[in-house]
Amino acid sequence: MLLAKDQLAALLEQLSKGSARLYVPARVDATTRFALFEPGIKTAFHLVNTTLPPKDLLFPQTQKMYRYGFDEQGIPYIDPVHDDDEVIAFGLRPCDMASIDCMDAVFLTKGYEDEFYAPRRKRLLTVVIGCTAPAQTCFCDSMAGDASTAPTADIQLNETADGSAYAVLANTPKGEAALTDWSGFLSDAKAPELLHAECSLKVSMEGIKQKLDTMYEHPLWERIAKKCVTCGACTYVCPTCHCFDISQENRMKEGERFRSWDSCMFSSYTLMAGDHNPRADKMPRVRQRFLHKLCFFEDRYGRSLCVGCGRCVEKCPVALDITELIDEIGAL
Ligand code: SF4
Ligand code: SF4
Repeated sequence: MLLAKDQLAALLEQLSKGSARLYVPARVDATTRFALFEPGIKTAFHLVNTTLPPKDLLFPQTQKMYRYGFDEQGIPYIDPVHDDDEVIAFGLRPCDMASIDCMDAVFLTKGYEDEFYAPRRKRLLTVVIGCTAPAQTCFCDSMAGDASTAPTADIQLNETADGSAYAVLANTPKGEAALTDWSGFLSDAKAPELLHAECSLKVSMEGIKQKLDTMYEHPLWERIAKKCVTCGACTYVCPTCHCFDISQENRMKEGERFRSWDSCMFSSYTLMAGDHNPRADKMPRVRQRFLHKLCFFEDRYGRSLCVGCGRCVEKCPVALDITELIDEIGAL
């Protein structure tokens, strides 16, 4: 099936009037992110990927967990916060989808199902648009990914070679069902040649994990940590970083508990009661970030926690580049 590009705006308009909330890549204030499709939105489908990752659709930057307090009779209560809306994420990139696969592993497997993530994930429809011109910082195809395809996406769109349309493919029953809402915009024409893309930035992951297994005490960590200013930008823009802190706010007889993104690059992240902090210094924190991405996550989930989106490469203010680190480890 084909979706002519000049039908995209009308399709989005129709989807935005349905019962699901529609999120698309957009320019918002001084950044780009997935934003609710509404009148006046500055969509940004031309971007390779958004500055802020789409992870907040599943794992919000700040998420209310429950309210609590005492009612008029002085009886304590706890009210869970419900959020029942269906959501469509339209215009994800293949690396974004791979990052959702990583978050699914963390929040839904190994005998644990996160009660806040799971319902959002069940209600999310993922629509990926394959990349045609990866950025200089993209390296997804070195990290077991592919710039053009996302097999776990519900629906995948790929641009035709003449640039006039998208080939539309449903990968899941959920995607198949969703396409009934698109039918007025699709043609049955056979997809002509499709554009496939390859990243120009390459790293070799061969043997990296095995080397890192033996490098916990290596002097390299001290050297690269010297550059880091522990701003945490790399972890905030990373689509797979998923650490959070739990806080509460009390007002008189009631309060709210919420969770917020945290960063392993901050010294307070590992601060424990009694003032003990196993990663008070910068070096262990920088080492932890890279070992978690490239070694520890694979031990537990069988894949890297870096999907090669390039966001941290682009945003780190001191150019601490994960691809250069991989190259350096490979050369040891
Ligand atoms: S973005 Fe760069 S400087 Fe900031 S915490 Fe990450 S590695 Fe360190
Ligand atoms: S570590 Fe960097 S390149 Fe890898 S997924 Fe995170 S932000 Fe993207």
